[in-house]
Amino acid sequence: MDLKIAALQDLVLRSRCVVAFTGAGISTESGVPDFRSPGSPWMRNKPIAFEAFLKSGEARNEAWRRKFAMDDLYRDAQPNRGHRALASMVATGKMTAVVTQNIDGLHQASGIPDDRIVELHGNGTYARCLSCGERHELDEVRPIFEATGEAPLCALCGGIVKPATISFGQAMPEEPMRRAQALARTCDLMLVLGSSLVVYPAAAIPVLAKGHGARLVIVNREPTGLDAIADLVINGEIGPISPFLGPHRECRGDPVPLSSIFSGFPRA
Ligand SMILES: [Zn+2]
Repeated sequence: MDLKIAALQDLVLRSRCVVAFTGAGISTESGVPDFRSPGSPWMRNKPIAFEAFLKSGEARNEAWRRKFAMDDLYRDAQPNRGHRALASMVATGKMTAVVTQNIDGLHQASGIPDDRIVELHGNGTYARCLSCGERHELDEVRPIFEATGEAPLCALCGGIVKPATISFGQAMPEEPMRRAQALARTCDLMLVLGSSLVVYPAAAIPVLAKGHGARLVIVNREPTGLDAIADLVINGEIGPISPFLGPHRECRGDPVPLSSIFSGFPRA
């Protein structure tokens, strides 16, 4: 293990443009349950597929009930040492951005600016209107849901309001995918933390990075589908290795400007 830690430090030290790709495994230390782990409360509150959500008011009400039940389980979750290590890497300019499959908002809570976080599966800490895209705060939705058993319709257009996560069966958001791909093509090290890399198209992002010449490091409790193409695989928890990711006092340069990576993109 010491040799692997040394190799990790060396790879990070020699990189100028690191991009993190994070999954549920980085948030388990914060008490956020991993969807796939046995006995996960997600199994008792399975997310409702997008098509059912669209079709049926009953399914929508059940989806909101389950969503709020899950929120209550980790409402007090705070960023852990893994999140903080990445925030430090972003702050020093070592890390360009974090691409995440997580919906828990903990990267934002760790202090990473919004424009340096790419959320592939949306965000569970607020809701959006499916018709006009207006953002709705859960603090406003929840009291109405609890009083009436139904989530309110969008005040602007009367559309259906849905948690701002990407449900099973819902199309991946185009803009975050394009940003993630641009980051993958331009980074020189992709650091996969806590993802089993089985959910596509998200898992195609590290493949793209590797294909464009980046080194690939995977830290995950279990083996992943991409171990064979990784330069370094560490099977373990993220917390204990996070001290070896930073801080990076040797890196005093400006962070890579996002405009140079996302040029020509419409604003997020
Ligand atoms: Zn609307």
